[in-house]
Amino acid sequence: MVLVATVRALLRLRNAETEARKAAEQWQSAFDALHEGLALVGSDCRMVRWNNAFAEICSAKAQVEEGENAAAFLERLVGTQEPLRQNGSHYEAEFAIAKRTVQLSVNPVHTRSAEKILILNDITDRKLAEYALRTAEKLAATGKLANAIAHEINNPLEALTNLIYLAGSSPSLESTREFLSSANRELERIARITKQTLAFHRDSQTAAPIDVGELVGEVVAMLERSAATRRIHLMCMREPSVIIRGFAGQLLQVFSNLIRNATEAAPPNTDVVVRVRSIHRSGRKGARVTIHDCGPGIPESIRENLFDPFFTTKGVKGSGLGLWVSRTLVMRHHGTIRFRTSERAGSAGTTFDVFLPVDKLAP
Ligand code: ADP
Ligand code: MG
Repeated sequence: MVLVATVRALLRLRNAETEARKAAEQWQSAFDALHEGLALVGSDCRMVRWNNAFAEICSAKAQVEEGENAAAFLERLVGTQEPLRQNGSHYEAEFAIAKRTVQLSVNPVHTRSAEKILILNDITDRKLAEYALRTAEKLAATGKLANAIAHEINNPLEALTNLIYLAGSSPSLESTREFLSSANRELERIARITKQTLAFHRDSQTAAPIDVGELVGEVVAMLERSAATRRIHLMCMREPSVIIRGFAGQLLQVFSNLIRNATEAAPPNTDVVVRVRSIHRSGRKGARVTIHDCGPGIPESIRENLFDPFFTTKGVKGSGLGLWVSRTLVMRHHGTIRFRTSERAGSAGTTFDVFLPVDKLAP
């Protein structure tokens, strides 16, 4: 009787062991099937276990060994132990491993334990796609700008040709003088346009002080004429000298995107109102720029997609990159971009609101 009981107990134990082994194997397969690299670091800071993806991502730079010190391993892999120093809190940063860009996150297993999970994510393709999009949008913007400039310069040039002809064939000195002084005004207009264009492309690597009001005024002056051809009046109200540190070329792109969107949405014979003010928001001093149009408003169903790359309701005429790029550039200035919109008949319209703080720009 005792023997039977013992045998049964042993059998149960063996079954339990088989089950446990099966579960462990299942876990390991699931672990290895993951696309992300995962590794467990013990409370003694040793590498305990990792999945295939982890070894694979590291392989170009460092071979991981069981029981190896995790800090030393990270030092070999990404050149710093910093990620493991973050005690008890989440850490995330991007590193280059050989030719790939990898996002490394470190999470504590429990809030109270010293064990950690390392997660490696190969984000090279995403980064490349982002870069390609940025370049594409820049090229598209440059093309549009070149077209607009050619247009803007062509009119005064034509006028200039006529005025010089008239001055040359005029019988009286007085009228010749008048023609020449008109010609001079047209020349000034051309000079102003080229100066603005040069400023648009001057985008240095280091942040410089920018008068936001002046910059917005420049964009408005540049887009005024093309808005007028759609019978839309661009109104600009600005406070002088709201100075922030930033990149002029990038901010010109942001405001020209937003103002262009507003003029595209506004019905003919209405105003698009651009305002620049100096304000405090959440304890930060900065410049607030609002762009208001009396267009149809933005339907609820698409509001959350507005800032997605390639999201457009303008068919082949839209790139769907304007807002996405604008948000990226505003975030680079530690600012915020948001909008209010209404579809209600009589008060329909959209206001985009950009806040650029005076300080807190990363070097
Ligand atoms: P695109 O202008 O090339 O379509 P954007 O990223 O600039 O791309 O804008 C995305 C979409 O957001 C637009 O297609 C439009 O539907 C919507 N949108 C942007 N600004 C406004 C606005 N002021 N009023 C109404 N809709 C807008
Ligand atoms: Mg647009």
